Amino acid sequence: MLLQMKNLVKIVFSQYYNVMNTNILYTYLERLSELLRVEARKKGAEQGLQPIQVEILHYLSQCNRFSDTPMAVTEYLRQTKGTVSQTLKVLEKKGFLHKRPDPNDKRSVHLKLTTAGQKFVSEAVPFSVFQSVCADLSSAQKQNLEQGLHFLLFELLKANQAQTFGVCKSCRYNQKLPNSTFFCQLVGEELSPQETQLICREHVPV
Ligand code: SF4
Repeated sequence: MLLQMKNLVKIVFSQYYNVMNTNILYTYLERLSELLRVEARKKGAEQGLQPIQVEILHYLSQCNRFSDTPMAVTEYLRQTKGTVSQTLKVLEKKGFLHKRPDPNDKRSVHLKLTTAGQKFVSEAVPFSVFQSVCADLSSAQKQNLEQGLHFLLFELLKANQAQTFGVCKSCRYNQKLPNSTFFCQLVGEELSPQETQLICREHVPV
């Protein structure tokens, strides 16, 4: 009887602890995302940019050549086509990006950061305080954090039936070739090792 009581207490405690842990995790993530948003707002304001404009520039700095279209930006940010289209016009006017027609499809354009756009992103994202705090984490802490956040992000995207926008190494279409290059089985093109580090609209988790 005593043993049963002890086991029951253990179960109740572990469930309570799990719930508490989840609440704490949620609070941490909420506060972190708010801090990141505030900082992005500040950095953007220095250049007269709105938060959504900063997000678009950041996205374009890390996406691959199959994902630098207005439609991909719309899907990534989960904004309306109208909002994205207006924002892209402003960014182009301010000289942070330019549009290049697709050589194979005249109706399609690719969005490329200008030198000013690249400079802004490299200086503003991730912001300097974040970088110095991260530098104090050990490699193991960073790895654990990355794995945990990756899991949370992908599961939440899945639950929302949203595209994952992951990188090639976790994509089912990625094929490693012998000469240290890669092949995308979806688009039928070779990819350089650098390209496989970029996020992709067509990504499908393994
Ligand atoms: S392998 Fe996957 S992530 Fe990489 S380019 Fe192809 S579809 Fe995109």
